[in-house]
Amino acid sequence: MAPARKTDILVAGAGAAGLSSALALARAGFEVVCVGGLDRRANGRTVALFEASLRFYRALGLWPTLKARSAPIARIAMIDATGSRFKAPTLAFAAAEIGLSAFGANVENHVLVEELERAARATPGLSLRETMVADASFGPDEAQVLLADGERVEASLVVAADGRASLIRSRAGLEARAWRYPQTALTALLAHEKPHRSTSTEFHTRAGPCTLVPLAPREGAPFRSSLVWLMEDDEARRRAALSDAELAAEVEAQVGSLLGGMTIEGARGAFAMAGMIAPKLCGPRVALVGETAHVFPPLAAQGLNLSLRDVAALVEAVEDARAVGQDVGSPLTLEPYDRARRGDVGLRAHGVDLLNRSFLSAFAPVDLLRGAGFAAFAALGPLRRALMREGVLTHGALPRLMQAPQPVREPRAGAR
Ligand SMILES: Cc1cc2nc3c(=O)[nH]c(=O)nc-3n(C[C@H](O)[C@H](O)[C@H](O)COP(=O)(O)OP(=O)(O)OC[C@H]3O[C@@H](n4cnc5c(N)ncnc54)[C@H](O)[C@@H]3O)c2cc1C
Repeated sequence: MAPARKTDILVAGAGAAGLSSALALARAGFEVVCVGGLDRRANGRTVALFEASLRFYRALGLWPTLKARSAPIARIAMIDATGSRFKAPTLAFAAAEIGLSAFGANVENHVLVEELERAARATPGLSLRETMVADASFGPDEAQVLLADGERVEASLVVAADGRASLIRSRAGLEARAWRYPQTALTALLAHEKPHRSTSTEFHTRAGPCTLVPLAPREGAPFRSSLVWLMEDDEARRRAALSDAELAAEVEAQVGSLLGGMTIEGARGAFAMAGMIAPKLCGPRVALVGETAHVFPPLAAQGLNLSLRDVAALVEAVEDARAVGQDVGSPLTLEPYDRARRGDVGLRAHGVDLLNRSFLSAFAPVDLLRGAGFAAFAALGPLRRALMREGVLTHGALPRLMQAPQPVREPRAGAR
């Protein structure tokens, strides 16, 4: 049997969270093996990244290329379309109110993966292995990982970014509590007649939000947006069977022709809505990041933004450990990471769960409470600004990689 390959850190999963982890850890000077299939398909899905996430990608030198392929989000509007007796006022947030030119930027998922892959391949000390993790075990001195192509890797630390059904999480004996919502999100890219004016607009329906997020123009289509539309599962099945023109007409009707006539570009997606939370984000020689640790519906674009805060906090924990000669896979390194992340993860997961369930509930007092909350945010500037700051930069100290200004972490010759 060939001897096992040794590395500082193995990252399991090459989705956005895995690739971002691998890149940031390698740029911090660790030797990294990242294992997983790369999904380069254009799948009609985008991700809205807020300021803290953009700072993270700026620090990794990715922002110039991402900026050219994304659209800024300067305003967010929320419109009550639940038909409730206690209709909430329309909420309008402007990034300028908190001194930013934009809350963030919207980019197609496959574009983000492409740019991360390009940067990863140009980073010495980072090896990208397009295969799967077949098995893993965690000993006192190292983690042993078996790849599907037969290679064995020994690492001081395994970063589990292998998604909601994580093999690493279960091999490490870490729990996860999962649940399902009676909703499906339909996604698509749209070209439309009227400009979006850099505004992301959410129509809050009884079955969840129908959101249009600005998208970069392309030749022949100056005005484009991405759609994320949550609806009941049966309704999603019916709409998934519609032609592009029929679905575009239903989107246009749902948003009251806000952006004029619409056409659907390319692939469409359908995602069953689920929630999941892992109570503990670390175990012996393992740290969980991204959807391996938390899953929730795409309300207020929290998912990957939260995941990148996991990644930035983990990079900080292992850099600090190395600085004092500490083992990067030891509980002394990983427990502080778990503690640093638990509050933010719990707050987002429960906040999104509560908001989503408030749409699904037809119970009048719930409508009344939601309406009163929206009215307070509409009327009170300081409250609205606090909510905006919380959404894009989060409370408490941000990890170093998300503090501004950050020098760009270039690829280094000879990792470690
Ligand atoms: C409709 C929709 C809209 C969204 N919009 C936003 C948004 O606007 N803003 C935002 O911040 N978030 C958004 N999100 C959430 C965001 O897309 C996800 O949080 C993010 O894509 C998850 O990335 P991940 O890398 O954690 O997980 P995944 O993308 O699931 O990656 C996990 C990877 O691990 C791989 N894997 C699995 N098993 C193994 C194994 N044994 N070995 C190796 N690899 C393995 C999988 O193949 C996969 O590539 C949205 C989500 C949805 C569904």
